Amino acid sequence: MSEVHLQYPDLSHLIDRLHFKPTEGKIWLAEQRSILMGLGALSSFRKEIISTLGQERGKGFFMRLGYYSGMRDAELARKLNPDASPEKAFLFGPQMHALRGMVKVIPLKLDFCLDTPHFYAEFEWIDSFEVEICRNALGQLNEPACWMLLGYACAYSSHFTGLDIQFREVTCRGQGDAHCLIIGKLAQEWPDHEEFSQLFREAPLIDELYELQSRIADLELSIQYPEDVPRALGEAPPFTSALTMIDRGANSDVTMLLIGETGTGKEVLARRVHSMSARSQGPFVAVNCAAIPPELIESELFGVEKGAYTGAMQSRPGRFERADGGTIFLDEIIELSPRAQAALLRVIQEGELERVGDTRTRKVNVRIVAATNEDLAAAVKAGRFRADLFYRINAYMVVIPPLRERRNDIALLAEHFRQRYEKQYRKKTLGLSDRAMEALNRHDWPGNIRELENAVERGIILTDEHSSITEENLFSIRPKRELSDDLRKLNQSSGQLEKPDHQQLFRETLAEQVLANQIGINDLETLLIDKAMEKSEQNVSAAARLLGLSRAALAYRLKRRDDHTESDEA
Ligand SMILES: [Zn+2]
Repeated sequence: MSEVHLQYPDLSHLIDRLHFKPTEGKIWLAEQRSILMGLGALSSFRKEIISTLGQERGKGFFMRLGYYSGMRDAELARKLNPDASPEKAFLFGPQMHALRGMVKVIPLKLDFCLDTPHFYAEFEWIDSFEVEICRNALGQLNEPACWMLLGYACAYSSHFTGLDIQFREVTCRGQGDAHCLIIGKLAQEWPDHEEFSQLFREAPLIDELYELQSRIADLELSIQYPEDVPRALGEAPPFTSALTMIDRGANSDVTMLLIGETGTGKEVLARRVHSMSARSQGPFVAVNCAAIPPELIESELFGVEKGAYTGAMQSRPGRFERADGGTIFLDEIIELSPRAQAALLRVIQEGELERVGDTRTRKVNVRIVAATNEDLAAAVKAGRFRADLFYRINAYMVVIPPLRERRNDIALLAEHFRQRYEKQYRKKTLGLSDRAMEALNRHDWPGNIRELENAVERGIILTDEHSSITEENLFSIRPKRELSDDLRKLNQSSGQLEKPDHQQLFRETLAEQVLANQIGINDLETLLIDKAMEKSEQNVSAAARLLGLSRAALAYRLKRRDDHTESDEA
């Protein structure tokens, strides 16, 4: 152990390695290409990072930036002057910090020994650039503000000594203290060292976004189906026999497997199972396994413990825990990864799970309704799906027929959707024309009920008040007779929503009338803006949306007009 004589080594070793090569567009500090960047740019950048990611994530971000730089400087310091004692050489780090213009470092105590091992350091930071950023852009923080510097100190010391060293900024001018003071010790001597080292891990936002997305989907679903028991419309025998099976099995805890093409209404049926069961007061959670990336599916379903993998910043429950006491609907179950399949089997068999990265076993009480549109037995044969899991979930299998096998139900469903969308769009039509009905019956419906629903919705949008919904409106074909049959087919298959001709007609009439009444362009603009402002109750953003302008563009026009009015009055 040795107390260091705290005097900086000769700075010329460092200065000699700093080369400005403006003709080449380069600056070199020894082996490192460096850049000279204004503080203002960094300042704006930090502000933006904090407003997008929040202070905690922003802090980690800048600590890592300092960390990468400290790591490289440690390598440089070890090579700079091989004759210097380790203690002397260590001080190249603080000197490089100063040379880079980031901070002046006053070493107060430095005492380390690589063999024991032992490390203790106290430094004062004077004129930290991060404090200046606070002063200029961010304002005083409620915690120490020298994040990049701290990351640098941790990385530099650890990589220089080969020990695991952590610094804390114990007082900081960025939070209103008189000095910036840091203390460094071996990591394990800090009681919160594990939590602290999390800050140096990358923290992708993506899994948090998935979590939020799934919550929104659940909420949307509960808004969409406010009825106690979701209706399952249909009278065609292949459907009614499926429905009988579903209703009989609902009030038990049996794992149910729904097999059917996409768009056949499996999720509505799963909700029905839940609503008719003794669990109806518990949660209903729907998961589309195909919509979640395979590497996240396990943590999505079963939860994750803090630190289990890069980005797992905090522990959170998975969908199974959230469905505790209720029902979970697993759509596209064939997409589950092998590990997720194994964990699912355990939930079914033992009613227990472990979060990813956890050793604790948790009990859950969840009823499972699974669904697939592929042949699971074939997937078992191909080795894509576990046989033991297959037999577990296949015990109560219900086949949902595609719409083309229950054509008698098309009229019933179309009428149901017509009522729903007339209500939603506050429109009253005369219903489907006979030709339109015939076209619905003729169509093959590869997208099943969902496709039918979309067609009816489109029909309602395109049909005038108190008119019949035509075939053209349903399939959005231009009602021009001269269209060749080929072109009509093309339009039909693309399913694009097209504006009907009457809108074009309306535009032309409008233009005629504006001109006939000698309304100038400026007057027209004023009229439109006033009307939009009135309709949106003087809310500029809302008015801008009505006008198809950005908020800024409308604000500019309003201001320009006010300026004119003022100068007129003056
Ligand atoms: Zn500070």
